[in-house]
Amino acid sequence: MKPVYKLGVIGIGKIARDQHLPAIAAQPGFELVACASRNASVEGVSNYQDIDALLAAEPSIEAVSLCAPPQVRYAQALAALEAGKHVMLEKPPGASVSEVEALHEIARARGCTLFASWHSRAASAVEPARAWLASKDAGAIRTVEVRWKEDVRRWHPGQQWIWEPGGLGVFDPGINALSIVTRILPHEIALRGATLTIPSDTSTPIAAELDCIATNGAPVRAVFDWRHGPVEEWDIDIDTDAGRLSMREGGKRLSIAGKEIDVGAEREYPALYEHFHELIATKQGDVDVRPLRLVADAYLNGRHVETEAFGR
Ligand code: NAP
Repeated sequence: MKPVYKLGVIGIGKIARDQHLPAIAAQPGFELVACASRNASVEGVSNYQDIDALLAAEPSIEAVSLCAPPQVRYAQALAALEAGKHVMLEKPPGASVSEVEALHEIARARGCTLFASWHSRAASAVEPARAWLASKDAGAIRTVEVRWKEDVRRWHPGQQWIWEPGGLGVFDPGINALSIVTRILPHEIALRGATLTIPSDTSTPIAAELDCIATNGAPVRAVFDWRHGPVEEWDIDIDTDAGRLSMREGGKRLSIAGKEIDVGAEREYPALYEHFHELIATKQGDVDVRPLRLVADAYLNGRHVETEAFGR
């Protein structure tokens, strides 16, 4: 029989309610016993103002899932790891690469699982795409084009943290595309240049273009834009010697060489919690900072262009 781990969820906001709580309720390997949030509570479990109060009052908790914005992830994760808990991080795993690497080191030293989750990697099209690109059938990869465009006012209404340092701006959705690309390509990719378009009243970009190169020489270009609508575009096209692989709707749909592939129903968050359970049970971690490192490199290498105020 599978072990059942007692779990706490921190930061009860949009993603916790939309995805984490339903996925946990459907996952027999976790028992939700407590939540911590400053302004919200969850019925049927103990509720605390913050993670420190939760950790002090609930010593039986074995794992926590951190769903607050990235700027507070490091302090929360550090508190949990120092208390000997296993930790699952929402994406992005931190506000900086160095934070995540420090947490990884601490988790290893303490023998705790650290799972830096990338929900888009659990999208149904991702593993079939990875398998095809890794097979001989695909031949060489020639170009990769990413278009990740949506209306920020529709998808992030009232969220101020996305515009503050560490909030990532348009990279908040864009990093989902980077998490897929770094998973499915059989090559590493390096950033060569970027343009970040930043409103005069925000700290983070509303649009970005990234020029990267794969280690086989193929150009990898990504365009992220938050001024797009009403229909969002979350698409990746990869041209190979054997034709085009197209991923649509953020990884829900896949076509290869003109043929639509049945990838099954979407189950991103249930899959993430299954993986977290497996990692704890087998005493492993899963921390891949490559998507966040590409974003950091875009900030490091990118040309910054000011644009009109967003008016937040
Ligand atoms: P959110 O609703 O704005 O924030 C989640 C909760 O975190 C808030 O309700 C708030 O609860 C708590 N929080 C906010 N600022 C805090 C602070 N400074 N200190 C402590 N707690 C704070 O955001 P979200 O959309 O759920 O996103 C959270 C994370 O999930 C982000 O990293 C995002 O990239 C990721 N994510 C979001 C989505 C999505 O569709 N929204 C999808 C996938 C992943 P209290 O005020 O009650 O403390």
